[in-house]
Amino acid sequence: MSKVLIIGAGGVGSVVAHKCAMNSHVFTEIMLASRTQAKCDKIAAEIKEMHGVTIQTARVDADIVSETVLLIKRFQPKMLINVALPYQDLTIMEACLATGVHYLDTANYEPKDVAKFEYSWQWAYQERFKEAGLMAVLGCGFDPGVTQVFTAYANKHHFDELHYLDIIDCNAGDHGKAFATNFNPEINIREITQPGRYWENGEWIEIPAMSVHKPIDYPGIGPKESYVLYHEELESLVKNFPTLKRARFWMTFGQAYITHLNVLENVGMTSIKPIKFQGQDIVPLEFLKAVLPAPDSLGENYSGQTSIGCQIKGIKDGEDKTYYVWNNCDHAACYREVRAQAVSYTTGVPAMIGAMLMLTNEEWMKPGVYNVEELNPDPFMELLNVHGLPWNEQVNVELPHEY
Ligand code: NDP
Repeated sequence: MSKVLIIGAGGVGSVVAHKCAMNSHVFTEIMLASRTQAKCDKIAAEIKEMHGVTIQTARVDADIVSETVLLIKRFQPKMLINVALPYQDLTIMEACLATGVHYLDTANYEPKDVAKFEYSWQWAYQERFKEAGLMAVLGCGFDPGVTQVFTAYANKHHFDELHYLDIIDCNAGDHGKAFATNFNPEINIREITQPGRYWENGEWIEIPAMSVHKPIDYPGIGPKESYVLYHEELESLVKNFPTLKRARFWMTFGQAYITHLNVLENVGMTSIKPIKFQGQDIVPLEFLKAVLPAPDSLGENYSGQTSIGCQIKGIKDGEDKTYYVWNNCDHAACYREVRAQAVSYTTGVPAMIGAMLMLTNEEWMKPGVYNVEELNPDPFMELLNVHGLPWNEQVNVELPHEY
């Protein structure tokens, strides 16, 4: 039915390509393009062997609008899934506008030289996408992505008003490496080393990085130390659900991970300020990325699971109500299915589902720039159960809201 162009051939891009190939009744022609074509070719060979589907590959530097435009003109896709890095969001959106192609990504734009991520840059494209009759869906991975679908679903079916939202994200997996990040190390470390931030009573409260933490009991896993971080979906959620009195994001980190990160930070390896090294300008964090294991290399011996969900408190029919909705995902099962670990899997599957809905569900396809919670959550929730990310829910359980 539709041609899709996927840009980015890392851990997430690989899962998106596998999952689109496994749904070739919707994604009838697939092209995977990235800066290093060899990575696309390797994934294409794996897909052919595992699912019997042939996909095309190409090289593109998506920082350069004209290169992406040329590729789009050559392949003529109906939509583009951007799973390169957040730095490429705006150039790829420009290329989509220039060629009349719908757009979806999994992370909001971040300038390379400032560790600052917010939606303002991409929301500014609203009128241009509307006028062009094109759709852009922003942040359609797991978090951002499914966490907003969960919140929208809770709002639609369980509450009259949402008051307290805690997004809780646990990775209880073991990849056997001393230190590695589960998605792009540069983006991951920039996110964690920033001050934390959460929403309370109409304003953002800023806290020193990793300074607020508590054990949270995750289903099927048990208690894990969890840290308050700023996470990008909070920005759109508090805008789209203005009754929220508080919204926070918690993520688990093991002690060894934090010790490594502290050391790397203390010696200046997480800095994004260029330094001179043997006559060349290098960015310490980019160099660090080059020596750390790539996220797509972690899958093979990864054991354990992830658990990501939303704990919500609010009002229904004048009464207090609590609701918890979550997904647990097993690293080894993901590897068996698509040769990936669960962090890449939980990001790539929702990206494929978002694209599938844009292409097949009339209600989901509308011109403009949208965050996922602005769209009908029901078909997305159904497809999560079908495509490998089944969810669970509990109503009126005691939630540890005060922590
Ligand atoms: P990786 O680093 O594994 O992969 C990134 C890919 O993008 C690589 O193939 C890289 O190519 C390619 N790329 C980088 N720059 C360019 C460019 N200028 N032109 C073309 N291709 C380029 O990252 P992940 O797969 O782990 O993450 C992909 C995206 O998913 C990121 O934006 C990340 O923030 C997001 N993410 C979202 C999550 C969510 O839940 N919403 C969770 C996890 C990740 P090369 O190999 O040549 O470097």
